[in-house]
Amino acid sequence: MTLKTTLLATLALTTLFTAPAMAANPQKQPEIAPEALSTAEQPPSNYDAAAKSARSSLEIKNGNPVAVLDPGHGGSDPGAVGYSLQEKDITLDIALRTRAYIWANYPMWVYMTRETDVYKSLNERTSFANAQYADLFVSMHINSYSTSAASGLETYGYPGAADSISLATRIYDKLKPSFSVHRGVKTAEFYVLKYTNMTSMLGETGFISNGTDAGNLAKDTFRQQLAVQYAQGMHTYWWGY
Ligand SMILES: [Zn+2]
Repeated sequence: MTLKTTLLATLALTTLFTAPAMAANPQKQPEIAPEALSTAEQPPSNYDAAAKSARSSLEIKNGNPVAVLDPGHGGSDPGAVGYSLQEKDITLDIALRTRAYIWANYPMWVYMTRETDVYKSLNERTSFANAQYADLFVSMHINSYSTSAASGLETYGYPGAADSISLATRIYDKLKPSFSVHRGVKTAEFYVLKYTNMTSMLGETGFISNGTDAGNLAKDTFRQQLAVQYAQGMHTYWWGY
């Protein structure tokens, strides 16, 4: 090995070993939303793993759908907070607006895991949806990060479940025009995605920890726009247009 190649090799190694330091950059965006994972609570007693698996791979669609909207958090659990906003209030408002839009426009029945500011456990939410034999489960959340650097939209499907990822993608595509930062369709073992027997997704429409996103989320018109886009994404998933 000549001196020159040794130097080059050393340089390459130095680059290799300094690269991970960039991960500590405060601008780095979080990899996963702060929602409860599948280990957070005991599964609901009416969780049917076989039914979930069958639907996951086949994308079963028969007749007009029954949907369950799940406004994240509530009651004693405010969810993320920032800029004088609480996640639980924003998710409930968007969900109520989504239900109103769907009932006015689509032949889709809608249940909600909560309609007021009350606490519901993850077990209660999924158990309720399973008991309705719902076709679609849409969990609405607002994201949060330790600094104001992170912003924008992301949606989640269940890992390996084609139907779930498809629903998350259809809704993501409709929500995109509301955000300038598009963080992508992701997968995660969130409790509500795993223990719902039906096709499920979870949306994170902006960061409550970011001034621009929070400012938008504080506006009625913006929340109404998100509600319509959620509804349109559900429509596109089910009816294909
Ligand atoms: Zn949340």
